[in-house]
Amino acid sequence: MHLVYALLVLQAPHLDRTEQRIRAGINGTREEQITYLQRVVDIPSSTLNFDGVKHVGAVFRASLDSLGFKTSWVAVPDAVGRAGHLVAEHRGKPGTVRFLLIGHLDTVVEPAGPNFVREDSTARAVGGADMKGGDVVILYALKALQQAGVLRDLNITIVFTGDEEHPGEPLADARRALIDAAKLSDIALAFEAGNRADATVARRGASAWRVTATGHQAHSAGVFGNAAGYGAIYEVARILDAFRTQLGGEQYLTFNSAIIVGGTDVNYDTVAISGTAASKLNIVPQRAVAHGDLRFISDSQLQRTRQRMRDIVAQHLPGTEATIVFRDEYPAMSPTAGNARLLAVYDSASQALGYGPVAPLDPGRRGAGDISFVAPLIDGLDGLGALGSGSHAPGERVDLKTLPMQTERAALLLYRLGRRPASQFTRAATQTN
Ligand SMILES: [Zn+2]
Repeated sequence: MHLVYALLVLQAPHLDRTEQRIRAGINGTREEQITYLQRVVDIPSSTLNFDGVKHVGAVFRASLDSLGFKTSWVAVPDAVGRAGHLVAEHRGKPGTVRFLLIGHLDTVVEPAGPNFVREDSTARAVGGADMKGGDVVILYALKALQQAGVLRDLNITIVFTGDEEHPGEPLADARRALIDAAKLSDIALAFEAGNRADATVARRGASAWRVTATGHQAHSAGVFGNAAGYGAIYEVARILDAFRTQLGGEQYLTFNSAIIVGGTDVNYDTVAISGTAASKLNIVPQRAVAHGDLRFISDSQLQRTRQRMRDIVAQHLPGTEATIVFRDEYPAMSPTAGNARLLAVYDSASQALGYGPVAPLDPGRRGAGDISFVAPLIDGLDGLGALGSGSHAPGERVDLKTLPMQTERAALLLYRLGRRPASQFTRAATQTN
């Protein structure tokens, strides 16, 4: 065996014999794992490149088939307009914890062709860290578990979505395969790009809001008077200022006002987030629209904030009306006791492997992701994938030298949790603990 591996074992006295075999297996496939990553990175698969997404899915599907998974390509309804998802199931010992492992096949940027360029211990690779690297971490953790003879006992469902970066709509249809899998699982583990010293136990959800105010079109000389009223723009200004002064400062709550259009002739396209307005300086404006987002850490924070926004909107200036509408986007992944317990197991696995402690990532620092859709149902962890930088940009990089670390930590997490009774991981059980 390699000297490096021998040293790692010496530094890690807390691994049992099986865990040492798992680690040895992962170290034995280091180069093969990088080659595999290159292979899937070199298939361009931006969300709307359906052939590319399906092609990447087919590569993983074949590998998971050979590990004994039952695999299927789950199409989404035509109206959703996306490639679909890869779903793979492995049945192990009845009554033990059922994992849902989450990855995605699509990328934001569409490279012109093969784009993996190895540069010493990193690679330039669109989709390398976000998140084909995470998909490959899952695959090589499973291979090592199989090699060590313990995969057969594990209950695992894998969902690699084809449209994480730009989900189809309606979301209920686009995310049905994922949510259905969560209903039959106890723990969700997501492999979005990770870090050495933290993992995600909570991430904020996202919603959109849109305020539309109307006023009486009138001569400006009468503004604030009984007949003309205050006009639509003052009404929107009142509302936005009240949002800022009355709702601002709450932990994990943000609400950005992204665009505003007001005047007499107002056109606003809610999909393109684009509009035009025209008026004259001597007219009290009749219409104004403001549109923005809302980020929140829990459904109760979301609902409470929406109600306060509605209450603010309802206090109209004289001669104006206003309405607010909300749109659900991503639910929040709230910081549950169960999530913290999963992190504790991951942290102890990391320390046993000699990689140091793993702390919770500040929820404000991670955007929404697929795990958010299942977080209302089951506990989970995210940020277990490859390390890298520059995601969603042509200069994305993936760190190759830490791929084994992420793979070992993932494999140990699955091994250590996978033998425990499922009953320990139901929401009710974790909430009373
Ligand atoms: Zn991603």
